[in-house]
Amino acid sequence: MTIEVLRIGQRVVRDDRVTTHVALVSRAFGASKIFMNEVNPEIKETLEKINKTWGGDFVVEFIENWKSVLKEKKKNSVKIIHLTMYGTEINQIDDKIQNESDILIVVGAEKVPREIYELSDYNVSIGNQPHSEISALAVLLDRIQKGKQFDVKFSNAKREIIPTNEGKRVVVNKTRD
Ligand code: SAM
Repeated sequence: MTIEVLRIGQRVVRDDRVTTHVALVSRAFGASKIFMNEVNPEIKETLEKINKTWGGDFVVEFIENWKSVLKEKKKNSVKIIHLTMYGTEINQIDDKIQNESDILIVVGAEKVPREIYELSDYNVSIGNQPHSEISALAVLLDRIQKGKQFDVKFSNAKREIIPTNEGKRVVVNKTRD
């Protein structure tokens, strides 16, 4: 399954940290790419530094127009999943989504245009209370992949964590500079 994320909208400065965290969750929970508006170019640099240190080739792509991304994906049979507290409950739909092959997950910042609801194949809620795009995305990605995303090894990492119950164990690969 190919998983990509589309971040719609961003309030200048106020949403910088949230958008960075949406990108970090996308990468750490198994998505390969995030599309977002170029409100703050530093977010892309941050993710490139994370790739360099912790591995993998997660991509941040700046876009001008979310509608053309959605239309292009739909043309290529990618299923669009929009996260919204008004959507179908995740418990009712996770089985079905797990069987899709390629998906694009849409998360909002402020009020999401009506058209997103209409263009989406699935409008999905993670509970019907308002919370955050970061938590909604993490729960959805975990439900879709049933925890398997954490078994994936990130390639070419400079630093790799050896999980331990006591303190911190990190292997540093000095050949990757
Ligand atoms: N008030 C905005 C609206 O009407 O769309 C929502 C703003 S919320 C802070 C930002 C994003 O978090 C939403 O666009 C949605 O993607 C996600 N979100 C928040 N709560 C959610 C929930 N219970 N289920 C699914 N997604 C949620």
